[in-house]
This record gives sequence, structure tokens and C-alpha cells, in this order.
Amino acid sequence: MLLNERKKLTVPKLTEPELLNSVPTGLLIGGQWRESSDGGTFDVHDPATGEVLATLASATSADAVAALDAADAAQASWARTAPRVRAEILRRAFDLVTERAEDFALLMTLEMGKPLAEARGEVTYGAEFLRWFSEETVRDYGRYLTTPEGKNKIFVQHKPVGPCLLITPWNFPLAMATRKVAPAVAAGCTMVLKPARLTPLTAQYFAQTMLDAGLPAGVLNVVSSSSASGISGPLLKDSRLRKVSFTGSTPVGKRLMADAAQNVLRTSMELGGNAPFIVFEDADLDAAVEGAMAAKMRNMGEACTAANRFLVQESVAQEFTAKFAAAMGALATGRGTDPATQVGPLIDAGARDDVHALVTAAVDAGATAITGGAPVDGPGYFYQPTVLAGVPNNAAILGQEIFGPVAPVTTFTTEEDAIKLANASEYGLASYLYSHDFNKLLRVAEQIEFGMVGFNAGVISNAAAPFGGVKQSGLGREGGSEGIAEYTTTQYIGIADPYPR
Ligand code: NAD
Repeated sequence: MLLNERKKLTVPKLTEPELLNSVPTGLLIGGQWRESSDGGTFDVHDPATGEVLATLASATSADAVAALDAADAAQASWARTAPRVRAEILRRAFDLVTERAEDFALLMTLEMGKPLAEARGEVTYGAEFLRWFSEETVRDYGRYLTTPEGKNKIFVQHKPVGPCLLITPWNFPLAMATRKVAPAVAAGCTMVLKPARLTPLTAQYFAQTMLDAGLPAGVLNVVSSSSASGISGPLLKDSRLRKVSFTGSTPVGKRLMADAAQNVLRTSMELGGNAPFIVFEDADLDAAVEGAMAAKMRNMGEACTAANRFLVQESVAQEFTAKFAAAMGALATGRGTDPATQVGPLIDAGARDDVHALVTAAVDAGATAITGGAPVDGPGYFYQPTVLAGVPNNAAILGQEIFGPVAPVTTFTTEEDAIKLANASEYGLASYLYSHDFNKLLRVAEQIEFGMVGFNAGVISNAAAPFGGVKQSGLGREGGSEGIAEYTTTQYIGIADPYPR
């Protein structure tokens, strides 16, 4: 039995106020939580009510540089730490996150809005990166071989890339942090982590958990801040920084890549998506609807992997759309802490208004809202689960990330059309295919330009799989055996053969 299946993930250990009081509110620099150098702070809000949950220290550029000072000072001894020691810190962190699962889940629901059941799912997913990379730490193999001419030996080893800047988005507050921190720890890198301003509490609590697991001072530094560029600006110019790993929107990723070019930094970029969800006429339609619900509604649609365009073969489009709309229309919207809630609020008023503007434009262009189509009145930033039928292929909603609970359905006639429509995007992250014909699934997968493809599956993220995109969805992979390579550099040593042939 898997360890985290043994734990009961039902009753919160701490009440909301107790939990919020136990989250560190300072900056973590060199193993100490401290105030911001200018005394500045910022508030974190509950998107279900708009109320302030906590007030955190807001790091300045000087604090960011102090965090890099600490990371740089810790780098050499951390790189020399035995792999087994790093592996066991990660394993202890996995155990602690699992033990504190209810706290992490409640914290994410409070600051991000997702329903508790989903937040628990993220705790399991996020914790898995700690366990997976604890296992990978001791298996980062190099190689040793004889040159083809037989005169020399080739010795190849992996070394930590050095101090890293890790920047995470607001939508998966735990998993996006563990997906970067765990492989960096495994590889022997030190870090400066900048969580998203909207949801930093989970990362603060996670950083304390890493300290509790025995991570040495200075290895992980955390600089939550109301000014993202005030942190990244000075660090990307500092020659001690060796890498930036970013998860977030494509425009910000491009800006960071341009800045990172000045010092020729290693970069990992997990950027936006525009996932097609393709239903062929031979698919099991009930399974496709179930997969569509998962691929669309996980995180209220606020996921880079969210199905963004439903491409359905003409002969089954009406039946699929009717079933899908019925399932979407039956979902219960509410505050994530209410056990009956299936759909939480969007992250803020701007996000809700952007989603509504896309829906309004699609309807103006000829689409029909089969269910939903409007914001929900009252406090919080709720939007009705929405299915749009008859969306014209040139509608703006098909060309950009919706990041909300809205499913535009459009139709295709042939396999070639489906491939063409799927590839008509600058993004290439996740994609989903539904059909009974395995040869067809493989044939389509060969031709579509996406880093990840689900066959008859609406959720494909897994710590053991390489997560990442092509085209403007990014560079590099997180998770899998590829994940650790993002944090290592390769050194080749040529050795004169002591016994030449
Ligand atoms: P965002 O780009 O606005 O912010 C991401 C992070 O970058 C945050 O920490 C933010 O504070 C920081 N940031 C913003 N401007 C910055 C700047 N000028 N310099 C340095 N840092 C800056 O994205 P978001 O709204 O937080 O997240 C949503 C986006 O993230 C979506 O596009 C989504 O697709 C993407 N995403 C991608 C993945 C993936 O793995 N590919 C996963 C989750 C989210």
C-alpha cells in the first residue's frame, strides 16, 4: 500500500485561525524568518469572500540579493552533501507533508479557492514530487567508456547547476513549488523561491516543513513579495545565479528568458497552454464526458493543462454537447471549505471579468451558451460552469487560455481536420484524444505538436512523468527522470587510457 493511502485525510488538524497563525509571515533567508528590509507588507485574500487572510512581509530587491547571498554561501557544502542525505531529507519532507495534508489542503482552499477535495488531491500530487525525487537522488548516473579509437577513457559526471531562482504561479500553490524544489534538492542546488503574490501562504508553510525535515540553512530561501520584478530584476543580473525555473504565463516567461540571456542562464519554462480535447465518433461518449469534466473543471479551469477547445466529430457533437452541458450545469458552486462545493471562485475580480469578456465575445460571434454564461452574484469571484456550442473557429476564446470554467465546443469532419485545428495554436502543452481505435490515437499523437497527450484520459499529470510543452508552452520538463537533469550540468573528463589497445 502506498504510504499516503494509509493516512486518513479527513479531519482538519487545525482550525482556520490556528492554521493561519501557524504560517510564517516573514522572509526565509539563511534559515531565519525575518522582516522585509523596508518593513513593507502585503495582504493575502480569500477569493471566495474577498476578506484578508494574512499579511506577509514583502521582500525588496535588497532582500532578494540577501537571499542569493545565503544561497551562494550554502552552495558549495550543499553540493558536497552525500546523495543519500539529500534523498532522506526529501523523504522526510514527503512524510511531513503527508502528515500535514489537511493543513496544506485547507490553506490552499483558503488562499486559492479550490474545493477541499481538490486541494487534498493537490497535496497528494505535490507530495509525490518529494518522494519521486528522493528516489531519483541516488540514481543520477553518469557514464564511463572507452573512446572509439581505444586510446582514451571518457568519464561523464553530473554536477549541480548552482543557485537557482524558482518562480511559481498562483494556481497550484503546493505542487508548483515541490515540482521545482524537490529536483533542485536532489541535484544539490540551492534556491531562492518567489511564490505568487496571490497565494504565497502554502509555499511559506512548505518552506517551514522543509526546514523541519532537516534542510540546512540557506539551501532554500523564500522571498514572497508584492513586486515580482523587484525580485527577479537584480537576481537575473547577478552572476552568482546560474538558473531560473519559471512556471507562469507565456508573456512573463518571454521577458524572463530575455533577461536571463544577459548572463546565459540555464532556463526551464513551464508556460501557458491551449489544450485541444478531441472526441472522435468511435469514442465512448460517456467516458469522454467524464474525461471532459476532469480536463476542464480541475481547479475551476485555472490550469495550464485545462481543456480549452473541445473539438468533436460532427456526427456525435450534438449528443456529446448535451451530455457535457447537463453534467456542467449540475455542478455546485460555493466556498471551497463547504463539503458540498464542486466549483470554487476564480482567483480575483479581474480573472472573472476576463472570462466573461471571452464568453460575451464568443456569443456575439454566433456561439450559444447551452448552460451558464454569466458571473455569479454576491461576494467572491464566482463564474457559472459554462458550455458554448457552435463556436466559430476564429473566435478569440479558441485562441487563448480561458482560465475559467468555460468549455467552447466546435466540430470537425475528418481526422486531418482535427489535427489541423489542434495544431492551429502557438501553444503545445497538453492535449486529450478520445477514441476506441488505438492505431488512430497513435497516428494522431504522431502528428500533433504537444508535449503531452492523454489517450482516453482527462488527467495525465504524474510525478513520474515528464511534464512540459513545445512551441510557446515552454522549454524543459518537470518530473520523471528528466526532471533532475534540469538542475544538473554535465562535466566530461578525458582520461589517458592506462592500458591502451
Ligand atoms: P504569471 O505569469 O502572471 O505569474 C507567474 C509568476 O511570475 C508569479 O509568481 C508572478 O508573481 C511572477 N511574475 C509576474 N511578473 C513577473 C516579472 N515581470 N518578473 C518576474 N516574475 C514575475 O502567471 P499566473 O497568472 O501566476 O499563472 C497562470 C499562468 O501560468 C497561465 O498562463 C498558466 O498556463 C501558467 N501555468 C503553466 C504551468 C505549466 O506547467 N506549464 C503550470 C501552471 C500554470
